[in-house]
Formats: sequence, C-alpha cells, structure tokens
Amino acid sequence: MSEAFLSEPFRPDQAHPTQAHPDHIHELIGIGFGPSNLALAIALEERQSGLDAVFLEAKPRFAWHPGMLLKGTDMQVSFLKDLVSQRNPTSGFSFLSYLHDKGRLERFINRKTFFPSRVEFNDYLDWAAGRLGGICAYDQRVEAIEPVRAGAGVSHLRIHSRDGAGRATVRQARQIVLAPGGQPHWPELFAPHRSDARLSHSNDFTARVLPKLTPGERIAVIGGGQSACEIFATLAADPACPRVDLILRGPALKPADDSPFVNEIFEPAHTDLVHALPPEARAQHLREFAGTNYAVTDLDLLQHIYGLLYEQEVEGAARLRMMAETQPVGLQTVGQGAGLHLTLDAQGRRFGLDYDRIILCTGYRRELGQTLLSGLADWQTGAAPDRDYRLPMKPGFAPTVHVQGYSEPTHGLADTLLSVLALRSAEIAASVELARADRRIAAE
Ligand SMILES: Cc1cc2nc3c(=O)[nH]c(=O)nc-3n(C[C@H](O)[C@H](O)[C@H](O)COP(=O)(O)OP(=O)(O)OC[C@H]3O[C@@H](n4cnc5c(N)ncnc54)[C@H](O)[C@@H]3O)c2cc1C
Repeated sequence: MSEAFLSEPFRPDQAHPTQAHPDHIHELIGIGFGPSNLALAIALEERQSGLDAVFLEAKPRFAWHPGMLLKGTDMQVSFLKDLVSQRNPTSGFSFLSYLHDKGRLERFINRKTFFPSRVEFNDYLDWAAGRLGGICAYDQRVEAIEPVRAGAGVSHLRIHSRDGAGRATVRQARQIVLAPGGQPHWPELFAPHRSDARLSHSNDFTARVLPKLTPGERIAVIGGGQSACEIFATLAADPACPRVDLILRGPALKPADDSPFVNEIFEPAHTDLVHALPPEARAQHLREFAGTNYAVTDLDLLQHIYGLLYEQEVEGAARLRMMAETQPVGLQTVGQGAGLHLTLDAQGRRFGLDYDRIILCTGYRRELGQTLLSGLADWQTGAAPDRDYRLPMKPGFAPTVHVQGYSEPTHGLADTLLSVLALRSAEIAASVELARADRRIAAE
C-alpha cells in the first residue's frame, strides 16, 4: 500500500481543524490531550499520514497534572523518555529540541541530571502541543460517545462535548482514541463528602488547598506514596505552618525501585514480553514489580522527610507527625466550617483525631467500564484491548476504538506512565492508518 493511496487532503472542508462542522466525519477524534494523545498527535504528524484528526481536551489549555505542579518536584523518568526520542531521536519534538529552542540547552547540560523539574517538563509538553498548531480543541469536555446506526450495524460515532460556559458541540468520527487518564480515587469512606471543601484529592492540591491554607491548620494527609510525601513536604515548608499528620496503612514509607535491572520492565520492548504471558503469569509479574510505581516514593524525598522529622525532634516541636500502620475507619463532619473528626485504627486500636482539612493521596482508578465507553457497552465484547490497544468490538461495529493508559493488566506497568509513549503512539497511529486503509479497500 503506497503512502499516496493512504493520504488525503489534510483536514478537509473545515475553516479550522478543531471547529465543529455538523456533517463532517473526522477520520479520528482523540479524547483527552494529555501526554498520551499529544504523543499520538506528534506520531501522526511525523508519519505525514495526512489523517483528518482532531483532539478534544476538557481543560481550557494544555496542562499536565496542574494540581500537583509543586515547586521542587522532579520527573521520575529520564528526559530521554520524552514524547518522541525512543522512536525518533532526531525529532524536532524532543526535550532536547525544546531546551535548544528555549536557549537553555547548555545550562541544562551543566546541571548534570536526567530528571528535569515537573514544572519544566510541563512547559516542554505545552511547547510541543503548541507546535502542532491547533490540532486540539480545548475547553471541550466529552460527555458522551454515541454510536450512529447504519442498518443493523454502526457506521461511525458522534462525540458530544461541552465547554465551560455550558455550550454543547457534536462532532463525528470513524475512529476514536480514548486517553482521559485516571480518575482520582475517593475511598468509600470519603466519597460521600466530595463536595465538602475541607476534603480534597491530591489531584486538586494547588487549586483547592494551597491558596486556602490558614495559619495553624490541622491537616491529615492520607496515603503513603509519592503524592502524599510531596504534599507532606510542601506543607511542612509552608509559612502558614499547618500541623500535618501523614497517615499511612503500611509499616513504613518505602522507596521506589528504579534500579537498572528492574527498570528494564519499562522498556517499550518489554510490552511484547508481558503481553505474551499467560494471564496468571502477567498478574504475578505486576505484583512482583508493583514497588516500582505503587505506594512508593523517590528515595531522595524520603530522606528529606526523615530529615524534617529528625530536625523537629531536635527542636522539641511536634508540628509534623507520621502515623504508620494506621487507617481511617470513620469520618464525622462537624458542620460547615467546623472540624472533621477522623476515627483511625492502628493495629486494632481505635481512636479519634480532629482536623480542619483532609487530603486524600489515594491514587487514581482506570476502569474502562467507568469511562465514556459505557455509551458503547452494547457493542463491546468485554475482551481487553489487543496488542495494538484496539478494543475488540462485536461484528457490525465499523468504527475503531483505541485506548491509551487502560491496558496495564495486559501490557505491563509502563502503560500508565510516560515510558512507552513514543513507541505506543506510533503503534496506535499505524493501527489507525491500517483501519482506514482496510475500510477504503472494502469500499472499492
Ligand atoms: C502528579 C503526577 C506525577 C506524575 N509523574 C510521572 C513521571 O514523572 N513519570 C511518569 O512516567 N509518569 C508520571 N505520572 C503518571 C501519569 O499518568 C503520566 O505521566 C501521564 O500523565 C499519562 O498521560 P495521559 O495522557 O494518559 O493521562 P493524563 O495526563 O491524565 O491526561 C488525560 C487528559 O485527558 C483529559 N480528559 C479527561 N477526561 C476528559 C473528557 N471527558 N473530555 C476531554 N478531555 C478529558 C484530562 O483533562 C487530561 O488533560 C505522574 C502522575 C501524576 C498524577
């Protein structure tokens, strides 16, 4: 199949690629424009596939986990695992190209680090998104995916979105790539209190907590992973001097294993190995290496927190506490604006503590059934995405649905991270192009 056959005029009959046109059917709509779909947009651009693609993003502009863009936090992967370098080291979308463009390449080299700050990496991603020239419509939260019937089957999909002012838009596509990231997890005990301003998830830390801190607040930070530790360290340094308890289920804060042999599981080639394993062996593999990513913290941050607690002991202060082997088992809210009474259980011993604020660092959930795909439930086979991240659908369903970040059980621990983006995006781009070519051949 020649490239010429696959090509079509780029984004036809539209004044602007992201502008909705009621009758137009896009070849591809990407839902969510975080690093995963940004990497895909770049892969499509670099493959010069001429594919009529548009991406829809809920946020008003590009931002990578803005609620946790904290001063002093660093990347947990090498900058070489950027959007492109592992696939195309000569790409103009690499982190090194970004540094060069910004005039900081030499000074970055002088820093002798593989790990830029998260603030800088966010700036890199924003720069890369900006270079794509308006392929993404921001402020478009997708609310539903509707199958468009053609006889007994489905020919394409209608994507319903809404902007911040409440205006609804409908676009159509023959293929979609769903990459909405994880949903902040609110454990059952706390879920009924979501709208209470005294409770928040780490995902909203910079918006809901930092600007609202008052001197001497009593704060419970719940969780024992990287986000909990970053928030604990940030609050410890806050001039408002809140009193902070770090409450974790496990016996101790544990370091993330990023040693070289273990780190090989994040290599893109490893995806094939994991995918080829029988289900039980895969599950065992995920358990074996969970300590690379879940409920663990970078060693330098652990050492910093240990130092903070030690200094406090020397000073005879008690503003910061770590409560290990402790879990929340009850929550009483004492009216709006008053305190929160948290019942805790430590090794079978129940006790209560009063707080002004609770911050949940309880991670994210990624369950396909709870995403926008519920609108396509009747057409799904229930099988996991295939090796190319395409969701198996029932006969008669012509559109393709690819997912990014929802295949950890079958593709391995790198699936929710940045490590495989450069390669995964090219695999999905190729699969999307192949589906387009197959459809055209079938129509001839
Ligand atoms: C604080 C933090 C730090 C991290 N640091 C690292 C790291 O250093 N290294 C690493 O490998 N991984 C890290 N991760 C893991 C993280 O999952 C990946 O870095 C990366 O963000 C995954 O990209 P994504 O595009 O799949 O998801 P996301 O980054 O979550 O992006 C999804 C996008 O979809 C949008 N969206 C969601 N729903 C809709 C909708 N209905 N309509 C339209 N748009 C929607 C969201 O607004 C968001 O912009 C970190 C995660 C967090 C929370």
